[in-house]
Amino acid sequence: MTALADILRRQIAAQGPITVAEYMTQCLLHPRHGYYTTRDPLGQTGDFTTAPEISQMFGELLGLLIAQVWMDQGAAPRFTLAELGPGRGTLMADILRATARVPGFHAGAELHLVEASPVLRAAQAQRVPGAVWHDSADSLPDDRPLFVVANEFFDALPIRQFLRHPKGWAERVVGLDGDQLAFGLTPPAPLAALDNLLDNTPEGTMVESCAPALPVIDALSTRIATQGGFALIVDYGDWGSAGDTLQAIWQQQKDHPLAHPGDADLTAHVDFRALAYASPLAATPLAPQGALLAALGIGQRAQVLAQGLTDAALENHLAAYRRLTDAGEMGQLFKALGLYPVGAPQPPGFGQVT
Ligand code: SAH
Repeated sequence: MTALADILRRQIAAQGPITVAEYMTQCLLHPRHGYYTTRDPLGQTGDFTTAPEISQMFGELLGLLIAQVWMDQGAAPRFTLAELGPGRGTLMADILRATARVPGFHAGAELHLVEASPVLRAAQAQRVPGAVWHDSADSLPDDRPLFVVANEFFDALPIRQFLRHPKGWAERVVGLDGDQLAFGLTPPAPLAALDNLLDNTPEGTMVESCAPALPVIDALSTRIATQGGFALIVDYGDWGSAGDTLQAIWQQQKDHPLAHPGDADLTAHVDFRALAYASPLAATPLAPQGALLAALGIGQRAQVLAQGLTDAALENHLAAYRRLTDAGEMGQLFKALGLYPVGAPQPPGFGQVT
């Protein structure tokens, strides 16, 4: 049993069951035993890997996209270039390398990183020197345009889960069965926040909501609406809530979400519709990652990089290309959404707004 499991068991025994959101928060960010607070879980040898860790092409193309949007909006001489949940700092380092020759972009950019984990902040400081760190998006500068990227950030934010019941909703909670952590349900009751879903949600369906995403979207939107800019959100998920998507990965394997609290990564699908509807900004179409990268030119970039490679290095490069773009890998499950000021040019690569 993990140290955190023991803490949670005692807390639940004394005070009663906790919500799935509270469980996720403790597991991911407990100051001494949290998954992100105590380790760098990323990379080939870690628990999971992410698009920027798979290939430099991901960050390069997103960097050029961001620079294009910055130019389309008038190339502000001074702006914030920010990232939410930057992991090891690989994505931002690739963005910066790819945009080094865009006139005025580096000169105008001030780097800001929103990161909760001290371990990952240290890794980011090595790859992104000169950045300013924040605990939350609330303290990002609000006196200039904001260009911000978030890859696999929103999937780590805690969700609550509600089961549709004739009498309203029963919330899924973490309680005890004997001395083991176990899922349970609260007695069903009406819930005003989910009234809009009552008609369209069949009995027995699980609905997820991610309250902590809303103040983040609000903080970004306020800045972008008043100062200009662009929020680029990439994550796994879809348009709408998709049932029970709480997922644990432990030692690179799928795991029961209650089996290794603090030692397993916990995520949930991102409901992009909830993010887009929470923002007053214009939204791009929701683009599958593979389609977006193809539109941004990953095919040509992959060919150029392949020219210098042979044998195993070439094989690895091609495998990384497939992993990022193939529908059976990350190409379809992962999606990208862009938020930008109403009336500003539509960011390229997402397809047409219909
Ligand atoms: N974007 C990186 C890392 C993804 S992992 C990549 O693509 O490789 C999720 C990241 O979000 C980690 O850096 C984690 O520490 C951070 N994070 C998770 N919850 C957070 C929160 N509530 N506030 C700030 N950062 C958070």
